[in-house]
Amino acid sequence: MSDIQHYIGGKMVAGTSGRGGDVFNPATGEKIRRVSFATPAELDSAVQAAAKAFPGWAATPPLSRARILFKFLELVAREHDNIARLVSEEHGKVFSDAQGEITRGVEVVEFACGIPHLMKGDFTEQVGRGIDSWSIRQPLGVCAGITPFNFPVMVPMWMFPVALATGNTFILKPSERDPSAGIRIAELLTEAGLPPGVFNVVNGDKEAVDAILQHPQIAAVSFVGSTAIAEYIYTTAAASGKRVQALGGAKNHMVVMPDADLDQATDALMGAAYGAAGERCMAVSVAVAVGGVGDKLLDKLVPRVQALKIGPGTDPEAEMGPLVTRQHYEKVRSYVDLGVKEGAKLVVDGRDLKLQGYEDGFFLGGCVFDEVKPEMRIYKEEIFGPVLAVVRADTFDEATKLVNDHEYGNGTAIFTRDGDAAREFASRVQIGMVGVNVPIPVPMAFHSFGGWKRSLFGDMSVYGMEGVRFYTRLKTITSRWPTGIRAGAEFTMPTMR
Ligand code: NAD
Repeated sequence: MSDIQHYIGGKMVAGTSGRGGDVFNPATGEKIRRVSFATPAELDSAVQAAAKAFPGWAATPPLSRARILFKFLELVAREHDNIARLVSEEHGKVFSDAQGEITRGVEVVEFACGIPHLMKGDFTEQVGRGIDSWSIRQPLGVCAGITPFNFPVMVPMWMFPVALATGNTFILKPSERDPSAGIRIAELLTEAGLPPGVFNVVNGDKEAVDAILQHPQIAAVSFVGSTAIAEYIYTTAAASGKRVQALGGAKNHMVVMPDADLDQATDALMGAAYGAAGERCMAVSVAVAVGGVGDKLLDKLVPRVQALKIGPGTDPEAEMGPLVTRQHYEKVRSYVDLGVKEGAKLVVDGRDLKLQGYEDGFFLGGCVFDEVKPEMRIYKEEIFGPVLAVVRADTFDEATKLVNDHEYGNGTAIFTRDGDAAREFASRVQIGMVGVNVPIPVPMAFHSFGGWKRSLFGDMSVYGMEGVRFYTRLKTITSRWPTGIRAGAEFTMPTMR
């Protein structure tokens, strides 16, 4: 029997497949729970619950929908630390970081509470004689969200608050590595007064995802995860007629100019490369040192990485926790081995880290490579761990070209005191989210989040106005009330006179 089931039609529903996955505490390496994997039939029952709830929810006044989200905000505030503990326990990130992820997710719920204002349409009186025209946005129907392990609360909250506030019903398929938070969110939404079937959680793996992609009654799919899967989701769901946004992986570069404040740049790199053990889609994994600043930067950086405080999420002193699974630990570690083979210089080697009392945990120490070259796999591929690559570039142009030539285009940052260089960089760079002396430029909820190139498949980013557009479709109504003057049948293309 699994501990983590599905949440369908306003209640917990036991899985019937007999298939499931183990959920670990990455700090101790222990199996702590088991999660059920849904069959296509179980996914279908969630779709039927969501489809049944849709007409009523879509017809609910936007302000009444928003009031339920206001109540949900109160409940999340009440449960904030309990949810953060759950995230930290299953993901491994330190407790304060888990608290921060929930706060960033809550900001999207706060944004969604104001969506009635954004649902207002446009109206033009007298587009023709006696004719008025207006445009409205209506919900799509049943929407699905498929989310990654690294933000089990924040990433679902990039999606469902906007989908629900605009009148859709929703099915969440959380990551099977840390699924508990998804169920907790569903319970709190029910407690907040959300009608049964409006928000459902189906746990599972590829089988559940494929059932979502093929289901004829699902109108839209939002996905966040790795690039290979994002591309698969985009092509498969689009081929079955769905609206899709699929956010993928990243290799975010931070360009450090010779005039940068190096203490500030070092602080920024520490948080951005090693926070959450590098398991963030906006983590900085490449530092581009421009015009000979590399040696000075490394002099400051190396001792800081060696002194990183690494420990379980429950340790209030810890700056960085373990990696999410043993398999992921092995993968990241093998990238460090590969970098050495490829000829990069490993100036901080975290491979031998052992924590007393946590010998079976998935801990890897912080690693720094110098003299990394663009043709190396450790430069080209996403490692998603506490491994920073330092690349040297002679000029600003060379650094900008490196960023632009990379296949990923999620985030980037420039550290400089030169406004002209910063402005030029922000304008020329082929990346969706850009920071100027800000290492992790995750846009606030009233802007939108999305990368370029192979970091996003689809036309629209998540949350903010882009999210409102994604979860609604436009209808334009042109209306005339008979005045008694009849023109008779008209066979020419109507023009406004
Ligand atoms: P992942 O791609 O392995 O999994 C994401 C989701 O897809 C999960 O729900 C998983 O169950 C499902 N999935 C996995 N393999 C599948 C398959 N073969 N067929 C169908 N579904 C499948 O990603 P992850 O390891 O959970 O998360 C880390 C990745 O997510 C990194 O690449 C990271 O950059 C990316 N990410 C991107 C963003 C962004 O905003 N661009 C944000 C967070 C994470």
